[in-house]
Order: sequence, then C-alpha cells, then structure tokens
Amino acid sequence: MKHASEEMAIVDAAIIGGGPAGLSAALVLGRALRRVVVVDEGNPRNGIAKRSHGFLSRDGIEPEALRLHAREELRRYENVELWQDTVVAIQAAEGRFELRTSGGRAVSSRVAVFATGMKERLPDWPGLADVYGCSVFPCPYCDGWEMRNEPLALLGGGESLLSHIQLIHNWTKDLVVCSDGPAALKAEEREQLAVHGIALIEQPIAALEAIDGQLTQIVFADGRRVARRGGFMVDTGAYQASDLPRQLGITMDKSGLYRTKGHGQTRIKGLYIIGDAKHGFTGIAGAAGEGYEAGVAINRALVNADW
Ligand SMILES: Cc1cc2nc3c(=O)[nH]c(=O)nc-3n(C[C@H](O)[C@H](O)[C@H](O)COP(=O)(O)OP(=O)(O)OC[C@H]3O[C@@H](n4cnc5c(N)ncnc54)[C@H](O)[C@@H]3O)c2cc1C
Repeated sequence: MKHASEEMAIVDAAIIGGGPAGLSAALVLGRALRRVVVVDEGNPRNGIAKRSHGFLSRDGIEPEALRLHAREELRRYENVELWQDTVVAIQAAEGRFELRTSGGRAVSSRVAVFATGMKERLPDWPGLADVYGCSVFPCPYCDGWEMRNEPLALLGGGESLLSHIQLIHNWTKDLVVCSDGPAALKAEEREQLAVHGIALIEQPIAALEAIDGQLTQIVFADGRRVARRGGFMVDTGAYQASDLPRQLGITMDKSGLYRTKGHGQTRIKGLYIIGDAKHGFTGIAGAAGEGYEAGVAINRALVNADW
C-alpha cells in the first residue's frame, strides 16, 4: 500500500468507506490487479462497541483491531491505496467518476463503490449514551450471547415491537418491554406477553442509570424505577452516513436505504452501493461478503468492457 501524493489519482475503482464492506471489495479488486483507492474517514458504525462478535475467526475482537488487521493485509498490494480522508463531492461524466476529498485530494475512477455505512440518531433519553455499546445494544446476534439469561429491557416502540420482543425473548426469559409511550400491540399480542411472563411498561422513559457503562436502573416519567442489567434497542434511528449517492440521483426506499440491483449495482453504470448503506444492518460478515461479491462483479464488468 502506498500513500497518494498526486493531484488527481487515476484508478479503476474508487471505494468510499473502509469498513468490512469497502475493505473486502478492495481486497478482491486488488488481487484482480485493479488499481484501487479506498477513502475512509475512520468513523465506523460499531466504533463505540468494545467487542465485535459473530465474524468467523475473529469472534470477540475489538472493532478497531479487526480493521487494522484488514488494512495490514491490504498493505501487500501496491496497487491498492488507502487514504484517511472524507469524500465530499462526486461527479459522474463520460463513463468516469471524479471524487474530491475534504483534504484536497482528487481521484478519477471507472467505478465508484459506496460502502459508507449508516449512522445512528439515538433517542434522547438521558444516560443512553453511557450504556449504548456497553450494556445496551442494537443487535442480539452481535451481543445476545454475552447478555444471555440476564434481566434485560427492550427499549422503544414502533410497528416492529412484537417481532423484537419475540427475538430478544430467545436470549432471556427475564424481559421487560419499555415502549416509551403507548405500545403498538393488539389485545391478543398483549395476552401473549402475559403468557410468556414479559412485563410491558408504556410510561415514557425518563432516564437510564448506569455504573461504568453497566445499566442498573430504568427511570420512567411517573417516577417508577426498574432494575435491569442491560438491553436492546428496537430502533436506533439509523440513517445514511453519506448523501452523495442521493446527490447523483440514487433514490432511497421508505426505510432510507439506497435502491440497488444485483451485486450493489445502482441504476448508474459503474456506481455500486454495498454493506449497511444498502441493507441497513449487514453485520461484519454480511458486509465483508457483499464487498467480495461486488468486487467480483466489478472486475467481471471491467474485463467485459476491455475485451
Ligand atoms: C454498537 C454496534 C455494535 C455492533 N456490533 C457488531 C458485532 O458485534 N458484530 C457484527 O457483525 N456487527 C456489529 N455491528 C454492525 C456492524 O458495525 C455493521 O453492520 C458493519 O460495520 C457494516 O459495515 P460497512 O462496511 O457497511 O460500514 P461501516 O463499518 O460503518 O464502515 C463505513 C465507513 O465509511 C466511512 N465513511 C462514511 N462516509 C464517508 C465519506 N463521505 N468519505 C469517506 N469515508 C466515509 C465511515 O467513516 C466508516 O469508516 C454493530 C453495530 C453497532 C452500531
């Protein structure tokens, strides 16, 4: 890997975002002899987490250590450059993409891959920031094992509430649902909760109390307090980390995910969107898989074009 100093780098693929999706695409394309630039601002979605789980051979690794390891592997490929920078503008013209960064660098590419992920807009419950990523998590597949059989809370409401209750009940039978207002549950669904011994508190959440990131009490608007050791969120308010695909005319679905076709190809030839930016929450393994799949498809498209 080498660091760029050119005014305008000319490459086959510009990859925006150096998480598991972007770095995996870079590895495939690098190994296919493509010249690649990965631009990453270094603000990953799971940066707040202490450990990353569920990625085979790296279960329980610190998120930053995983990325460091991936970047080290890419160092073997002199045709892959890694820039720590933020892409702030992109233009598509005459079958090429021109990108500019906040650091004043520019790259011209045949293909552009957005692997920019999502950010969270968490509810403004006092104390949530202290426990999020430590004892309150977004995903039971990531952290459910560590919280198994603990007294847990499911925090938040919305249309998907029952589905989340069923899921978290898989990891603990000691579950209190804190819907932060009237729960969107039918009478028979409420009866199901009672059958499973799951308490439902519909009072607004006033605060989360914790010691060193470990949730201890949930305080409600009516002053009631419930002791819990952790929990999961129904909705973290995820939104796209990058608006640039939208500026190029790529539309989003009602969940705020960019519309793509197979392998992350968008309706603009050569423009791909992969990872969380495409699916909402892929996990590390899913994002890396998407990067591999897109890398293969991109190389095939370039081979076909050059034949
Ligand atoms: C608290 C928490 C814990 C989690 N724990 C786990 C877990 O244990 N196991 C698991 O499998 N998954 C976990 N996840 C989910 C996992 O983090 C994501 O699914 C995964 O990181 C998605 O990979 P990605 O490459 O699509 O995006 P990301 O990993 O988010 O990477 C996107 C990158 O793009 C960069 N970027 C964005 N915009 C720009 C721009 N304009 N220019 C340059 N760079 C840009 C960002 O800074 C970031 O570095 C967790 C998520 C959260 C929130």
